[in-house]
Amino acid sequence: MAWKTDKFHKRFAESEIGTIRKPWKGRIKVALVYPNTYHVGMSNLGFQTVYDLLNKIDHVVCERGFLPTDKRQGSGRIITIESGSPISAFDVIAFSVSFENDFPNLLTILEKAGLPLRSSNRESPHPLIIAGGVTFFLNPEPVAPFVDCFLIGEAEAILPRFFDTDLPDLLNQDRTSCLKTLAQNVPGTYVPEFYNATYHSDGTFRAVEPVLDVPVKIERRFLKDLSRAPTCSAVLTSDTTFDRTFLIEVSRGCPHGCRFCSTGFVYRPPRFRPLSLLEKCMQHGVSMTDQIGLVGASVSDHPEINKLCSQKFEKDIRISFSSFRADALSPELLSVLRQSKVKTATIAPDAGSQRLRNIINKGITEQDILNAAETLVAEGIPNLKLYFMVGLPLETMDDVEAIVTLCKQIKHKFLKSSRARKRIGEITVSLSSFVPKPFTPFQWVAMDDIGSLKSKIK
Ligand code: SF4
Repeated sequence: MAWKTDKFHKRFAESEIGTIRKPWKGRIKVALVYPNTYHVGMSNLGFQTVYDLLNKIDHVVCERGFLPTDKRQGSGRIITIESGSPISAFDVIAFSVSFENDFPNLLTILEKAGLPLRSSNRESPHPLIIAGGVTFFLNPEPVAPFVDCFLIGEAEAILPRFFDTDLPDLLNQDRTSCLKTLAQNVPGTYVPEFYNATYHSDGTFRAVEPVLDVPVKIERRFLKDLSRAPTCSAVLTSDTTFDRTFLIEVSRGCPHGCRFCSTGFVYRPPRFRPLSLLEKCMQHGVSMTDQIGLVGASVSDHPEINKLCSQKFEKDIRISFSSFRADALSPELLSVLRQSKVKTATIAPDAGSQRLRNIINKGITEQDILNAAETLVAEGIPNLKLYFMVGLPLETMDDVEAIVTLCKQIKHKFLKSSRARKRIGEITVSLSSFVPKPFTPFQWVAMDDIGSLKSKIK
């Protein structure tokens, strides 16, 4: 189907390698929407993975939509990159959401698409609005009134069943029958309108109970074995944070279990992809670009990371890491960072004092942090980013002061190493406030109040 597209979407489409275009006829049409701009969405490997997975299903055609960057873009309409079609023309609109901050954008997109915001006000022929992503493993309730159904779990473990060959028939039924069949037959499907929340007399939450014959508990779906499920970039474009970098997920979850961190708990057990699969992914990536990004909660924990990075290719490639631990900088990893001309490395002490790092189970010492800062700069990485939080449980003002002290100590090491290399880069300190996350040991800890946070940041 041909729709009038615009110069913004044409520019995005023309700058891409790997765009998937499939004929619409006879297929379920899915608009996969990232509730933020093209640049942000295309930097998200989870979003790209869903795009690839859906298009691998023969009877599905999946196109991508994003929040317009500015008013000139498509006159504010939400149209897809592949065919320039309005998302309201699709059978299904699938939101892929990784961050709670994007929740308001989900509503903006529904409004711009001309669709009723509330699920209860939509009916056939409106598209089915579904949503998935890690933010909904944690808590789908903030946007529950606006979504017809959530897919709770990892995409590979739930999408093939959800989009099986009966879905075209179900989409022709009335909305409630379609959703009921999905909720009853596809584990991980949560239809908010089929559940009621109940509360104690003091107003505190009691339970969520089904009002129809659907599962009492929604099972979070996850892939037990990643060894046959590569997760890599589907589309390369310069218009992302990673600029034509081919991303490869090396692992899912994290073995460290920092007590504030949802990644360390919702993706349990941590799973690592085998070297043989990752080598194949890397070869595929090298056929498309010379920049490889290894992605994972803690890439340096992969047991064969050094072997993976020492693969030889016919051309020079640059390898970057989404994360590494301050206590895991092996000579091999440092050599890869040096060869890849990485400009900025991130260290996340998270807390300033050892006392508080022990409380949050961070598992790194002050010496690990100082050694990492000194070594990274000595290896030629000029800039450092430091991540800290305030408002952590059991924090005192001494712990807050310790952030300043630690930054000064890091600066001292940084300058010593920088002067030796005759180049002084920048240290960026990022300070955020602790937010209690579901499923972590700190989930019931109250958040610090704004006045207290402000006084700590001063
Ligand atoms: S090491 Fe990082 S990803 Fe792992 S649990 Fe700690 S904060 Fe989370």
